[in-house]
Amino acid sequence: MAEERTIQIELKHVTKRFTTKTLGEVTAVNDFNLKVYEGECFSILGPSGCGKSTTLRMIAGFEDLSEGEIYLSGEPVSIKKKNLYVPPEDRGLGMVFQAFAVWPHMNVYKNVALPLKVAKVPKEEIKPRVMKALKHCSLDGLEKVYPSDLSGGQQQRIALARAIVINPKILLLDEPLSNLDPKLRETMRFEIKKLQQEFNFTIIFVTHDQSEAMALSDRMMVMDMGNIQQVGTPTELYNKPINKFVHSFLGQSNFTQVIAENGKVCVKGCTTPLPVEAPKNMSGEILLATRPNTIEINHSDGYKAKVIKRVFLTDFSQYLVDLGGGQIIRIQTPHRNIFRQGDDCYVKFPSPMWYEKGEEDDAERAKRMVI
Ligand code: ADP
Ligand code: MG
Repeated sequence: MAEERTIQIELKHVTKRFTTKTLGEVTAVNDFNLKVYEGECFSILGPSGCGKSTTLRMIAGFEDLSEGEIYLSGEPVSIKKKNLYVPPEDRGLGMVFQAFAVWPHMNVYKNVALPLKVAKVPKEEIKPRVMKALKHCSLDGLEKVYPSDLSGGQQQRIALARAIVINPKILLLDEPLSNLDPKLRETMRFEIKKLQQEFNFTIIFVTHDQSEAMALSDRMMVMDMGNIQQVGTPTELYNKPINKFVHSFLGQSNFTQVIAENGKVCVKGCTTPLPVEAPKNMSGEILLATRPNTIEINHSDGYKAKVIKRVFLTDFSQYLVDLGGGQIIRIQTPHRNIFRQGDDCYVKFPSPMWYEKGEEDDAERAKRMVI
């Protein structure tokens, strides 16, 4: 199926290394191979410092590559080996960044008209195009207003209007909603989606916010410390994460230390087997991964555990449950399923996932963090 679609953006073996005084050499982007199809909304998701902006900046042409090749609509725009490099203004892209990069000394109309003037678009074409972009970004009527008199959301809409006024095929959005309050963020999400459907943009949307990525994307990529972890649809990544990092980055997770031996799985330090089928190709000390909203909790059936805390949340109750051996998990269940602190309870894990007990890289991640 996917092969029939037109490839709009392609990265081949793209690598970017930075040399810094304090950190030495950092591989910000490590050997990326990636295809984004025409009309697709593709999100890049990962923690601060994982290389999201660097990836986007290389696609836009603001950053040179250390190695590799980038193609837009089949045309090469960056080929390191051949020293081929097409400047940003000739790549036909619209871009919006996290900071509200609007010109404070120009009114809304002039802000949006600027890219057309720079591109030497004939004068008579400018006004209708600006007015159309403003309308699509719900800014009509505000042409003469200065950005400082507008809200954060409206300022970000100016940036969006300025990006779409050049009729780009591709929109690159780098955390464009991060500086907005949560409610406005959700509204803007819908507006971006609507614009995409109207204009059939190919969008690369960078975010560290998983729900934003899940809501907007046709496909997404989770990355960590310069490496692609997994690419797929939001449901694929949520339901079949390939490793612990992806599991923990999308949705909520419990990771329980268990020992798998002779077809049985016990919580580390306990002897009663859990009511789960042991994983096929793993044994010894491993991790049982579960989602708080998939665990069954009841009064008589399953693995005996103890409720140590109940928190009443708006749409469900959350329990902290002690499985023994110091292993505590979080469970979310409808309000009708009531347990009190100190109660015995019984739990079942209908959809367990298993991971190797890998090393943690938190120190390395912290070093890369972009402030
Ligand atoms: P993200 O957007 O995912 O937060 P970035 O792509 O901005 O991350 O950064 C990835 C890594 O590259 C970080 O460790 C960052 O410190 C480093 N980095 C980014 N830009 C530069 C630069 N111009 N010089 C040196 N290091 C950089
Ligand atoms: Mg960034």
